[in-house]
Formats: sequence, structure tokens, C-alpha cells
Amino acid sequence: MTTADRTTSHQPRAAARSLKAALPSLAVLALAAACAEPPAARAPAPAPGARAATTAAVATRPGPLAPLLAEVSPARMRASIDRLVAFGTRHTLSDTASATRGIGAAREWIRRDFAESPRLQVSFDRHVQPADGARIPRDTEVVNVVAVLPGAMPAAAGRRYYVMGHYDSRVADVMDATSDAPGANDDGSGVAVVLELARVMSRRSYDATIVFMANAGEEQGLYGAKLHAKAAHEQHLDIRGVLNDDIVGDPSDPAGGTHDRAIRVFSGGLPTAATPEEIAQIRKLGGESDAPSRELARFVAEVARAEHTEIEPTLVFRYDRFLRGGDHLPFVDEGYPGVRFTTVAETFARQHAPADQAKFVDADYLARVARLEAAVLAHLANAPSSPPRAVVVTAELQSDTSLRWEASPEPDVAGYEVVWRRTTSPEWEQSKDVGPQLSARVPVSKDDVFFGVRAYDKDGNRSPVTFTGTAR
Ligand SMILES: [Zn+2]
Repeated sequence: MTTADRTTSHQPRAAARSLKAALPSLAVLALAAACAEPPAARAPAPAPGARAATTAAVATRPGPLAPLLAEVSPARMRASIDRLVAFGTRHTLSDTASATRGIGAAREWIRRDFAESPRLQVSFDRHVQPADGARIPRDTEVVNVVAVLPGAMPAAAGRRYYVMGHYDSRVADVMDATSDAPGANDDGSGVAVVLELARVMSRRSYDATIVFMANAGEEQGLYGAKLHAKAAHEQHLDIRGVLNDDIVGDPSDPAGGTHDRAIRVFSGGLPTAATPEEIAQIRKLGGESDAPSRELARFVAEVARAEHTEIEPTLVFRYDRFLRGGDHLPFVDEGYPGVRFTTVAETFARQHAPADQAKFVDADYLARVARLEAAVLAHLANAPSSPPRAVVVTAELQSDTSLRWEASPEPDVAGYEVVWRRTTSPEWEQSKDVGPQLSARVPVSKDDVFFGVRAYDKDGNRSPVTFTGTAR
């Protein structure tokens, strides 16, 4: 803890303990649910060694994040979308000189909105995208609007967590830069999440750095994100997680009904930037579902359960929807973990069309999405980093499992947990608190389960899981 204003520094000891206790018990619940599958689909019996469930711990409310989450305002998010729509079009090739219409006016308004929070470092992230013979007909300046909330802990401030949405919009003709393109849901909704999180989170301090970004050029080929991610890689920026909000405001189902308590979270299981040697290693481990992006998605689900969020993430194990991409992908291509948030059922007739209007965005739903991500970002930015170089030791044939890892560098690390799951299970099922030691022996066969290790701090904030490699 570095400042008195830190969100989780207000967490009482008892709450910290109960939060810690809650996750394994939830994992046991998940395991119980998984075991309800038909017998044929069942994997070996639950492994011994897990801590006992303590159901009393699950009910603790409100949690330490409650004041932060309560500040998220549907009315302000509604106002942000109305303001974005009022620029007529925010097409990447649209007017940049007008003060009232086009992408230039829109980005200036976003910049000023960020700048109302004095603790944010706000800038235009300018790039020139050369003509591409396709959706960029001439050399075009692509400008992302970036607001940085610097981390307060020296050992953690180099780690960056992004939340972003794209502020450009379009109609059916992707080269039409003059017609009205309201883009309320796609992606005024994502930008509204980014602006609201910047507003409420910048009143507090976190160990690691949080970056709030409104991207341009998405509809022309993900150019704002590509240029930013490439530059970040060249500068060796340590980006540990990217939350991409794109189409997150309209929970209605074109087939009828609504999904206003759920959001899809897309993640890939194989790192797209992996070398052939790394792919060979993944094949050997059976690690096809454990890329850092996938661990980030699991982390989102764990935080949602621990914080009892009003909205439930539906994990989708693929990088994005068919025929569409999003701004998390260029980050993944540069080797950074990234996931995409999108509503459960999309109304395609209202996308890239004059019909993408603010009246179809449900501000209460949008605020629930924002609260989920506020909780995820607060956990990510206050937790220690994932333990480096975690391995299962394969020096000899043994029926239990020895593991070791290296220390997470933050000074507030209190200990580590070994986690595991059956090889057929989507999420981590069991955990064992091993305290501050950097090795452990678990009475489970490494042949039958996947192992990971995570760090926790003295407030009970857990890191995302490091999937284990092997070593002798
Ligand atoms: Zn979009």
C-alpha cells in the first residue's frame, strides 16, 4: 500500500480474509456444477488437497470496492453517448477542422472530458497511417485519446492495464465520411465506459498504472490500436492486460427478450505471436487453452464471482466473433494479453447504420458493464504481478506434483496459491494456499490436471494465474 487513498487499503482484515476464503469455495461450487454433467463427460474425481469451503465467507457484502462501484453513473454515461452522437459522424476520414462536427471535434471533446480529472495524464496519441489502397485512401492522421493514471507503487507502476473503446463510427459504406453515423452502441457505448471509469477511478490510487484510451481508425482496419500497440512494443511498455469494450450498451435480443445481466468476454487460447518453438512447447504441455489472454478472461470471471457483480461474464473461448475483429487483436499480436467485451446478442441491422441510435442503449446495463470492469481493473492494478517462471518439476516419475516459481517483485506480496483444474475444465477448480514459499508439493498427479500459480498481497488481492511450464 502506498497511499491512504488506495481503494483496497480500506479493506478490513476480516473482509480480506473472507475474500481470500471466498475464491476457493466458489471454485468448489464451480466444480460441483461441472460434476453435474453426464457421467460420460466426467473427469477423474476431485483432487485432494483443496481447502475446505467456508460458505459463510461468500455472503460478505458490501465489499471494499462498493464505494467505487457506487460512483458509476448511468446518467453520465447516457450523456456521454448523447454528446458523441451529436458530432454527426466520427468517421476516421471525416472533418477535423470543425468545432462541432466530425472526428476532430469528437476527439477534442474526449480530451477535455478526460482532462477534468486532474490526476490523469491526458494526450493525443498521433500517428500517420499511410494510404493502404483500401479503407485509407490517402495518408491519414489517426489520433487516439489517452489518459494515464500512474501507478502509486514503484515496484508496480511499470505494469499497465488498458481499458479502451473506439470513438470512430461509420455507415454501411465504409468510405462514406460525411453521412450521419451516430455509432451510439458501436462504439459510443465503449467510449462511455472508458470515460466513466477514468472519472471514478482517477479519484483513487492503484499500485499499477491504468490507461484509459479512446481509439480511432477501428472501422478502417484497427489502425489506432495497431499503431499504438506497435509503438508500445517498440518502447518495451509492460502491458499486462487489455480490456476492449466494443458494442456493450444494447442488451436486447433481436429474437426477443433481453440479456441485461450478461456480457460476453472473448479470449484466445493460443498466443498469436508465439514462435514455432513456443507452439511446440504448448503442444507438449497441452496448454492450448492457457494463453495469457485466456488467463485474463478467467480472471474477469473470478472477480465477478468474488465481487458479486450485477452482471455475469459469459466466457467465449475464441479471439473474436466470425467476420469481425476488434482493437484487442493488435495488442494480442504484439504479445500482450487482451479480451473483448460485447453484448450477448447483437442486432446487426443497427450496426454501421443510421439506426445505431442512443435510444437503443440501456444506460443501466451499460453502468453494470462499467462496474464489472472497474472491479476487474481495481483487482488487476492492486494485486501483485503473476509469479514468473512457474514450473512443474519433471525430474523423476512421481505420483504427486512438485512445483516451483520465482517471487513476484512487489513488496506487499503475502503469499502464493497453487491452482489446478482437470484438463477438460474451462476454469481453475482447486487452490492451495502455500504461504510465502516459492515451491510446493501437491498430492495430485501432474499427468491428470493443469497447474498454475498466482500471488496474493496482504489485502487479499490475487494476481492472474501463471500457467506452468516444466523443468527438471
Ligand atoms: Zn465497433
